Amino acid sequence: MERKATDPLLPLMEIPPGYLNIMGYIDESEVNGPSCRAVVWLQGCLRKCPSCFNPDSWSFEINQLITVDALAEKILSNTRNTGVTFSGGEPFWQAPALAALARKLKAAGLNVMSFTGFTLQRLQSEYAPVGAQELIDQLDILIDGAFVESLAINDPTSPVSSSNQRVLVLNPEFQDKITWASDQTEIHIFKDGSRIVTGYRGWMEQP
Ligand code: SF4
Repeated sequence: MERKATDPLLPLMEIPPGYLNIMGYIDESEVNGPSCRAVVWLQGCLRKCPSCFNPDSWSFEINQLITVDALAEKILSNTRNTGVTFSGGEPFWQAPALAALARKLKAAGLNVMSFTGFTLQRLQSEYAPVGAQELIDQLDILIDGAFVESLAINDPTSPVSSSNQRVLVLNPEFQDKITWASDQTEIHIFKDGSRIVTGYRGWMEQP
């Protein structure tokens, strides 16, 4: 698709085929979906929701490029990861590459969940980002809807942050697995001193 120079989505065209532009990554999270799992934060979101937990994810400029193969290998190399969660930013702007990643992980026995600021209806409409259905077809769970500050739940036992958001269980095997510890916060500290804080009222920080 041709894009104008002022189009905020233009940097998406700079992502080489087979690559993802990510903002962050952690292993062994227990607050971003069922059981213990990797989390991939995608770079880029148009919504600019007030009180977004992660405003550094808004820009579509290239942050960290990683191949789908390398990311699959990284996720699978930690045997405690039983699945992966895509968060953001908006994962669905990079749907084709995420679908390819999800296929590799599912073939290895992992489950796949994604957050999105879109509604499922929008993702299945003619206005959906490219490859949206391809990614939906790979998902076990989809949390849809943008965070709306005026509808904030502020309840640490809720799996979603605002009441418009829905937990859509796309694989019936996960019907009774919406039990992740959303009342906990995790702090992941890396060798270079950087930190990612995630979970209830979580946010991401650089050193
Ligand atoms: S959709 Fe999510 S990442 Fe995007 S602005 Fe809203 S809360 Fe932030």
